[in-house]
This record gives sequence, structure tokens and C-alpha cells, in this order.
Amino acid sequence: MALSVLAHRDELGVGQGRLFIDGSWREGSEGAVWTHIHPASNEEVTTFATASGADVDAAVQAARRAFDDGRWTSLKAKDRKRLLQRVAQLIADHADELDRLQTLDNGMPVSFSSIYQVSSHIAADVFDYHAGWVDRIAGETIPQYTGSDMFTMTLREPVGVVAAIIPWNAPLLLFAQKAAPALAAGCTVVLKPSEYASLTAFRLTELLEQAGLPPGVFNLVAGEGSVTGEALITHPLIDKITFTGSRAVGRRILAAAADGIKRVSLELGGKSPNIVFPDIADPDLTAAAMMGMVSMGLSGQGCVCHTRALIHQDIYDEMIDKLATMAGMCVLGDPFDPATTSGPLINTRQLERVTGYIEQGREEGARLVVGGDRPDGELAQGNFVNPTLFADVDNRMTIAREEIFGPVLAAIPFKDEEEAIRLANDTDYGLGASVQTSDVKRALRIAKAVRSGTFGINGFTVMPNAPFGGYKTSGLGREGGREGIDAFLETKTVNIGLSDAAF
Ligand code: NAP
Ligand code: MG
Repeated sequence: MALSVLAHRDELGVGQGRLFIDGSWREGSEGAVWTHIHPASNEEVTTFATASGADVDAAVQAARRAFDDGRWTSLKAKDRKRLLQRVAQLIADHADELDRLQTLDNGMPVSFSSIYQVSSHIAADVFDYHAGWVDRIAGETIPQYTGSDMFTMTLREPVGVVAAIIPWNAPLLLFAQKAAPALAAGCTVVLKPSEYASLTAFRLTELLEQAGLPPGVFNLVAGEGSVTGEALITHPLIDKITFTGSRAVGRRILAAAADGIKRVSLELGGKSPNIVFPDIADPDLTAAAMMGMVSMGLSGQGCVCHTRALIHQDIYDEMIDKLATMAGMCVLGDPFDPATTSGPLINTRQLERVTGYIEQGREEGARLVVGGDRPDGELAQGNFVNPTLFADVDNRMTIAREEIFGPVLAAIPFKDEEEAIRLANDTDYGLGASVQTSDVKRALRIAKAVRSGTFGINGFTVMPNAPFGGYKTSGLGREGGREGIDAFLETKTVNIGLSDAAF
């Protein structure tokens, strides 16, 4: 029997499927719709309205009014904080439903959709954490540099109207990572989800509405990047663009922002290295984590997946065997089946891209150890690719340089620490990196030497209260922690004369 997700759709419902502008749900003005196709079966799940340029304009105007008239910025800190805490609570109350909606959106297996780092639980915590900032955003008093007849202080003020654009691979986490700090800082928001994962965003928006946010403070416009996204990033009333997605679109956003000198935060892709030394405590566990990161869950469609395995030559053959064994343990299948470990690629275009890279890896002379093909039977209809391991990869090969966004691990041998660092840094990207070793001094030397925004020593995680972002072409700015809230604030310096002659 062919795989089908339609029963889960009927059980879950698919949310409003409309635009949320100025506190109410409405159809798109031009009647354009998007058909959501499920990546595991390529069945039609539902259709929903997409936003035209006029709809985006209405959303931005609503957000502008809501910012300028102070209905959000002037709200007492304790009230704004409570509203965001209520959002966190509502997300937590609907955790299971939201995790399953994420599966209906992008095919992430339910076994993975409920793992903290990509689940509704972290989304709730991101709102809760940022609610905690609302009554702590404060300026400083500054000592006088040359005299004493002035008093100088800084105010921290919201940057204004924020355009937030997110991709499809972690819609729960990324919706929260954008909306929560912006709202906590006092900004108003127009958010565009990816049309490949809008169902989660509709439901989260319903919960924001239910929490009682004033109209216009948060607006949702689903739609394609080329129409809805372009209208948003080029809108003159937007003060800041915050974006997670590909490097190509990140560049386009920087260019679009130049005209109005809009503020920009970018979370882009990666080609993160994982450096393995022979002194690891448990090679089986290390291999499981390394292969699991690029083949379980969304099958390598994660920005911070460590897709380059740099392995010391003394343990290289042993690790290749273990990685191959681990690849064989992945269970591809119905993402709603709790036994499934690995989901499909998001769409047929991504499937072609990934299989194209695998072909290129073969042509450029890498050794295909396992995978490279697609499962058949009931999975043939979906966009599945078997977990793939290439060994003997040269860091100059395409599969070691470009972000594949699929279940493909490139293993590269090295002989010493110096070479490992050189290979790790020989990339345009700088989002994540890790080292696996029992030698703490070596681990810290490498952590300092590798140019990446996040670094793991025998483990890697993402938390709401720690900054996340990229060096080099992996991004601009940070999300999470103090730096994440700073990204939505301006600083105003206020001088007060203490005598009549102070001017
Ligand atoms: P993408 O094509 O860049 O899309 C991201 C978002 O931007 C989508 O909502 C997209 O809409 C929209 N968009 C596309 N063109 C636009 C334009 N001209 N103006 C405004 N918006 C536009 O990326 P993706 O394929 O969805 O996601 C995969 C990429 O995201 C990978 O490169 C991955 O590394 C990166 N990523 C990074 C992080 C991080 O935190 N660093 C996290 C997750 C993913 P459409 O869907 O219509 O294209
Ligand atoms: Mg795209």
C-alpha cells in the first residue's frame, strides 16, 4: 500500500490557511493559492491563500500603525511580559498537536519533531525566555569625559517594524526565534513562513491571537519568496529584516536593504566540520552521533548539520566502517510512524539537487561507501534518499564545499591537529564545528582556532539563552541570548545639561 498522510491531516486540521493582518484573518486580495504537497508521498494536503504585494503592504501598514501609535511599545513591561508568557504557555499546551503539524508540513518524523531542539517545547521556551527580557531591557548612565555639567544616559528602544522570513526545515523553532525577541524588544512584526511549511505558522499565529496580542502587532503573510518575500524586503516602511535561509537569498536581502539602510540579521547555511581524534571514549557512540546528525530527522536538511567528517588517519578505517553501519540502521518511512528515524527531502527539486551532488561526488572521485540511491516500494512516491557516506573526499571537491542539504556525509582523513584546523577552516562557511576528543587542552585549542559561530566539544546543542549564528558567509548577527535581543534594539544617547551654560 502506498504511503499516505491524509488521515493525519484530517485528524489534525490544517489551521486558518489565510492571511493574518491587523488582527483578523482574511483571504488574499488576488485570490492566489499555494497547494501544499507532502514530501513523503507527494500527495496534495491542502491549499492556502498567499499574499500579493497589496496584501504585504496592508500587513506592513498595520504593523507600522501598531508600532507608531505605541499600542505595543508603550504597554507596561509587566503586561507585555505576561502576554509573551501566555504565548509560551499556549504553545506548551498544544505541544503534541504542533509537533505533528510540523510533520504534516515538512515530513520531519514524529520521533524527531518532538526532540527538544526542533520541537514545540523549545518554541515555548524561546517565548518564555524572551518574555524574561521585557522588564530587563535597560540603558546605562555614562560618566562625563571632559566636564561635569552634563548628565548622559542611553535608552534602548525597539528598532521598529520587523520583516521576518523563515525557511521550512524547523518552522516551530524558527517562528519563535524570530517573533519572540522582536516582540519582547517592543517591535511589531510581519512574518513570512516558507510556503513549504506554513501550516505550523498558521497554528502558531492562532495561538498568538488567542494570547491577546493587540491587532497589528503580529501579522502573517504566507507566500512565495519571489512575490510575498520580495514585497516584504523591499517595503519602505520596514525598519529591520531578520532572515533564516539560503546564502543566495541572504545576499538578495542585503542588497534590498541597502536602499533604506534597513537593519539586517541573517542566519544562513553551513558546511560544518566534525573533527575526530583517536582518543575518543566511545567510537560507536561518536559514529552514531555523526551519521545520525546528517541522516536522521530531516535527512540532513539542517543548517548546522556537520556534513564534513574530518577523521584522524589512525582511526579512519575503523570509523568509516562504523559510520556505514550506522547509516544502515536508519529507518526511512512514514514520518508519522514512531519507528521512522529519517524523513524525505522537502520537494522534488531538492531531491534532484541532492542526487545531482551524489553523482558529482562519484564523478570527482570520492569513494561511495554506502547509500547514494533511493528506497523503493511504498517510499518510491516520496522524496527519500538513503543515508549516504562518501570516504576519501578531498576538501576541494564539490561535495566538501557546497551545502548539499541532504543525507550525505563527506569523510576526509587528516594526519595531525594542524591539518585538521586547516581543513576545518578551508570553507566559506562558519556556522558550526565540533571536535571529538578526550584531550581537553587540544579541544580548547581547536575551539579557539576554528572560525565558526558555534562549536561543540564532544556534544552540540542549541538553547534559547545562548547566541546562535555564523561567521563568514554563514550569517550576520546572532539569535538567542543577550545578543539576540540586542538585534532588535537601537541605542539612543540622551544628554542633559545640568547648568545654563551646558550647551
Ligand atoms: P531559501 O530558499 O533561502 O528560503 C528561505 C525563505 O526565504 C523562504 O521563506 C523563502 O520563500 C524566502 N525567500 C526566497 N526568495 C526570497 C526573496 N527574493 N525575497 C524574500 N524572501 C525570499 O531557503 P530554504 O531553501 O527554504 O532553506 C534552506 C536554507 O536555509 C539552507 O541554505 C539552510 O542552510 C538555511 N537554513 C539556515 C538556518 C540557520 O539558522 N542558519 C536554519 C535553517 C535553514 P520560498 O520558500 O518561496 O523560497
Ligand atoms: Mg527557496
